[in-house]
Amino acid sequence: MTDGHMPERILLHIDGKQVPAADGATFPLDNPATGEHLGEVANAGAADVDAAVGAARSAFEDRRWSGMRPRDRARILNRAAALLADRIDEYARLETLQIGRPLREMRAQLRRLPEWLEYFGAVAQSAEGTAPEFGTGYLNVVRRVPLGVAGLITPWNHPLLITMKKLSAALAAGNSIVVKPSELGPAVPSALVALLEEAGVPPGVVNSVTGFGATTGRLLSEHPGLDKLDITGGTDTGRVVAGNAGRSLIPVTAELGGKAPVIVFDDVDVDDAVAGALFAAFIATGQTCVQGARVLVVESMYDAVVDRLVDRTRALRLGDPLDSETQIGPLVSGPQRERVAAAVDRAREQGATVLCGGSVPEDARYAGGFFYEPTVVAGITPAHDLWYDEVFGPVTLVRPFRDEADAVAQANDCEFGLAASVWTRDVGRAIRVADQLDIGIVWINDHHRIDPASPWGGSKDSGIGSENGWDSYRGYTRTQSLIVNAGAGSSDWFGSSADLRYS
Ligand code: NAD
Repeated sequence: MTDGHMPERILLHIDGKQVPAADGATFPLDNPATGEHLGEVANAGAADVDAAVGAARSAFEDRRWSGMRPRDRARILNRAAALLADRIDEYARLETLQIGRPLREMRAQLRRLPEWLEYFGAVAQSAEGTAPEFGTGYLNVVRRVPLGVAGLITPWNHPLLITMKKLSAALAAGNSIVVKPSELGPAVPSALVALLEEAGVPPGVVNSVTGFGATTGRLLSEHPGLDKLDITGGTDTGRVVAGNAGRSLIPVTAELGGKAPVIVFDDVDVDDAVAGALFAAFIATGQTCVQGARVLVVESMYDAVVDRLVDRTRALRLGDPLDSETQIGPLVSGPQRERVAAAVDRAREQGATVLCGGSVPEDARYAGGFFYEPTVVAGITPAHDLWYDEVFGPVTLVRPFRDEADAVAQANDCEFGLAASVWTRDVGRAIRVADQLDIGIVWINDHHRIDPASPWGGSKDSGIGSENGWDSYRGYTRTQSLIVNAGAGSSDWFGSSADLRYS
């Protein structure tokens, strides 16, 4: 427990113990809103990753968790959910300190997270095998068994949510785990591992190694002791991790980048459409994979929507993310702000019009943090880099469309296929449009909503597989097919020259 104060040292968690890196290496964790040094984080090297995978392997092989009845695993996951519910305020504050996301948003997100442990506990208890018809005299029972040791690599933008999505499914299915949280958001995922043990998950089942992607992440994803890799991150990272999974011939789930369209038709109220676009574009200071990064508006409403969107974007309150009045926090790091600024500058160079924002705020109040003004850009076409590139910041573009077919064509003109929202009161149109989108998650008159029961994953460069729901649980299992000779008689394959019968 930290009472909402960042621990001075964030350690590795291996085999039930909080330990420093074997070579004592650490790296600093700084507050992106102020530049204040928050603490030091253990920087795991090869020996630490080996130890964590080894601990997870031993825990899996002696069946201390995988051999437990699903009902007993579920009880422990429910206990963890209750402990987590008691720590929401503390964890939300830590998340805000480390990534700068406004506290009111962090609280809203974290309040939902106990549901993931409860949901997957329930899935584990209700999971069933199948009994395919095999033929007279045989009984075939297909069981779902855990995979073994899963390596989970998570990003900084929703540190606990994304760790929770992966971990709750993996644990419920009986696997052991090594988590590699993002170097920019390690505090709360690390705390979660200790919480799980407090709830009764046996030591060694969940281990955490903190460190950088190019070192710790690479070491984990190349480790031969894994049975599954599950990564959320950028598409380039996803390709590397999926390549390593391919070489090890283990399954991979990869939740990667996005460039979500927000498609606004003429039968919605302008204020509702703008409130929706604002929510889609600027929640988490725009740093979400499903950010509404392309606001596509039917020509007849374009001017009205854009005028109102620009007014409301200008009115968003930047500031101290711990202040409950703040709506937009800083970006997570200096390099992240530079990437965002460079994307907007490039759009300007290519002839686009920045309607609002587009720079670092000058007020001295923002000097200590990585703030960037919420930005709306017009005049973007597929000839501009901004049309295709994921910015991952508070920048959205607006573009008109002619009709339904044009809206669909523009929305699909993207290498990503993670998410979209369609704003219309016409149910037929909503379904028709959704049906033509090559996109994994489509909200109608909403955006960002998530539930542990609802699959989350994209097409094309947005990744492979999905989180949440039964598919995610199954993705942490493999089948074992038991074929029982239950009276077919014994056969002596080589004992006679009569016609052979194979089944
Ligand atoms: P990132 O790719 O830089 O890092 C993600 C994780 O991978 C981190 O833990 C990092 O340390 C690790 N990593 C980096 N390079 C690695 C390597 N070579 N080998 C192994 N591990 C490595 O991404 P980020 O900046 O933390 O997060 C932002 C990205 O994540 C965006 O592209 C965003 O769209 C994506 N994202 C996707 C989803 C989704 O559900 N699809 C959700 C959130 C974020």
